[in-house]
Amino acid sequence: MYHPLFNNPEIKEWICEIGRRVYAKGFAAANDGNISYRVGENEVLCSPTMICKGFMKHEDICMVDLDGKQLAGTKKRTSEILLHLTIMKHRPDIKAVVHCHPPHATAFAVSREAVPQCVLPEIEVFMGEVPLAPYETPGAQGFADTVVPFLKSSNTIILTNHGTVTFGKTLEEAYWKTEILDAYCRILILSKQLGGITYLNEQKSRELLDLKKRLGFDDPRFHLEDCDLCGNTAFQEGYSSVNAPMPQAVAFDPPPKFPAYLKSPSSAASHASESSKNADPEELVRAITNEVLAALRGK
Ligand SMILES: [Zn+2]
Repeated sequence: MYHPLFNNPEIKEWICEIGRRVYAKGFAAANDGNISYRVGENEVLCSPTMICKGFMKHEDICMVDLDGKQLAGTKKRTSEILLHLTIMKHRPDIKAVVHCHPPHATAFAVSREAVPQCVLPEIEVFMGEVPLAPYETPGAQGFADTVVPFLKSSNTIILTNHGTVTFGKTLEEAYWKTEILDAYCRILILSKQLGGITYLNEQKSRELLDLKKRLGFDDPRFHLEDCDLCGNTAFQEGYSSVNAPMPQAVAFDPPPKFPAYLKSPSSAASHASESSKNADPEELVRAITNEVLAALRGK
């Protein structure tokens, strides 16, 4: 099968390179995971089925059309290609898709725990809220469709009881999102062993979103009046459209309730910098005493 767009050594090398990184990082055991890149209007290069992603060669790469029909390549295309193609059909700006099972992010997928926000500055700026697409048996269109309600405002999605899918304009960008997400989930799990996470306060969380805006990154919180600043509620419409439960904080402390980014900050946040300088010691003692009494009463 000859096809002019199939002869693309540069993209084939990138698919092999991302495969090596995915395998080296332990994001895909044995033959797990798949990688794709759109080379034409209707043509996509992808990894084959039943191959270890760490050892792929150019001649292993396949080409399919946007409906999954194989156009070129001697090996059979990945069985998960419909997930990749569904993302590309709904998001014409996306060229590259990486799907794998990074253990720390997949731990959140299995426990169905909401990934906390307002914890690490880089995560707020480069990632934001990560939706959990509902579970479906892999392989068919029904599985691919689970991500559709979350595609509008995210390039990083956790697949419930399965793994992750990340996407972008280049293969490296798509892969980086997997790496960032798994590193973050690992830090969260480690911090749990040390006693738990500490959320940033409202003012500092707002500052990070201001920075994100200035850097030109988008975030669903820039467009929604009725979502919490740190509350993992930006995708509530997506969850309700497929009748899936919103992921909740169970293992971690629930996020603090702050007004939406588009709403005016609570008075505590707007005076935060002032009051931290001129804190009234008597009021502080009263607040601490009340907390200690409340904790004692709870025992
Ligand atoms: Zn998978």
